[in-house]
Amino acid sequence: MDTNEGAWKKCMEFHGHRCSGLLIGFRASLYAMELLDLDYSQDEEAACITENDACGVDAIQVVMGCSAGKGNLLFKMRGKQAFSFYNRKTGRSVRLILKETAPMEKEEKFRYLKTQPAERLFEVQEPTQAFPEKARSFGSVKCACCGEMTSENMIRLQDGKKVCLDCFIPYSRFL
Ligand SMILES: [Zn+2]
Ligand SMILES: [Zn+2]
Repeated sequence: MDTNEGAWKKCMEFHGHRCSGLLIGFRASLYAMELLDLDYSQDEEAACITENDACGVDAIQVVMGCSAGKGNLLFKMRGKQAFSFYNRKTGRSVRLILKETAPMEKEEKFRYLKTQPAERLFEVQEPTQAFPEKARSFGSVKCACCGEMTSENMIRLQDGKKVCLDCFIPYSRFL
């Protein structure tokens, strides 16, 4: 990992502190880039579906250039240390899930995550989720209730009027 010290520093600057969680995302990113032959994603060449919103996600943004704003970082919240990565150019993808370890104290865990080979840290699987569609841009509609401009895909019809999700009264009788 020595050659990547610079990248790791950038991750810590972005994230604000040094932690094992960040390191999980960092190692997962580098491993995915190696497996899928990816570089830093200027546009949407790479995409990531993360199954958690924990510390590691910050490293994915810094190292891979997958970010929420660019639309190539998607959250499928499952509370798992698992990430699916996609290479749009080649159509290849992997899901990396952190392997279980014996309980460790904090620093020991950090050292373990830093020094073990990636294949020992992560199980490599086929993603369960199909390739995410490229980010679409939508037109805006004025909500008939609050008057705020709202992206079309977030509009509902209520009493024949187009309303935003804040003004919409959901009708769901099943729990
Ligand atoms: Zn953290
Ligand atoms: Zn509204």
